[in-house]
Amino acid sequence: MEKLKERVQQIKKKRPGYGEILDFYQKVREAQDEIKASLKIDPIKLKKEWKELLTKEGFSLIQKEDFPLDIEASIKLFESLCQIGKDSNPHMAEQVRKIKEALDNKKINLKNLLKKGVKEQKIEQMANEFGWDKIVFSFLIQSSIKPSIEAGMEQLRSELDPETWLKEYCPVCGSLPFLSLLKEEVGKRYLICSYCGYQWRIDRMFCPFCSNKEQESIQYFFAEGEEPYRIELCDKCHQYIKIIDYRTLGESDPVLEDLATLHLDILASKKGYKRPIPNPWTP
Ligand SMILES: [Zn+2]
Ligand SMILES: [Zn+2]
Repeated sequence: MEKLKERVQQIKKKRPGYGEILDFYQKVREAQDEIKASLKIDPIKLKKEWKELLTKEGFSLIQKEDFPLDIEASIKLFESLCQIGKDSNPHMAEQVRKIKEALDNKKINLKNLLKKGVKEQKIEQMANEFGWDKIVFSFLIQSSIKPSIEAGMEQLRSELDPETWLKEYCPVCGSLPFLSLLKEEVGKRYLICSYCGYQWRIDRMFCPFCSNKEQESIQYFFAEGEEPYRIELCDKCHQYIKIIDYRTLGESDPVLEDLATLHLDILASKKGYKRPIPNPWTP
């Protein structure tokens, strides 16, 4: 956490426009960190067949809904995040106020929602029903369960080899990646799961959204003086992923680095490319 705070200060000095978003993210991370220490997660019992299916058929080990959650801790975190949201920008504050009101008036039952395993479809449906911003509600829910999800992923880590999976989706939970990393001197490339945070190796030139590997239909761009951040554009599916080069940047919180380079997303979007797995602030 100290490292993250230091990096936030560093980035804010360089790009003051990101101050508000980065402060918000830091508060969210602090709240998540606080919960982590007392988290109680049931052990995930893997069936032998699942492991076989992974090796033979390329299925992920579990489904998103299969992650055990610490419901009490998630609810507590949800409350903390609402508090942080209230002190954030006016749009977020207004949305949080509405969501909290429905919660306090028992119009929604968070416990039941979490118990059934969180589905994006259900979140969307609830947001529509109550007239909330879907992105804000989804962000609150996903951030509340994040410590549980990551703890579950850690349990399964030893079952997998991140170097040999080489597919476009996460071997743990089957979700798509939200970001890519370059590591080690030779520049090994990794993808980060948008749901559980697992990292696995992938070919250097590869669109994780349509499996395109053709050199002539993949291009890159970066902003001057910001070489560690690259955007990989795919001309087959017209989608893109952000790549962070840890070799020149050093290890850092990938979500933080993603938020601090939204200007690259704006450029990619202006060029007509879409980001399949955005963050809540992606233009
Ligand atoms: Zn995953
Ligand atoms: Zn593609």
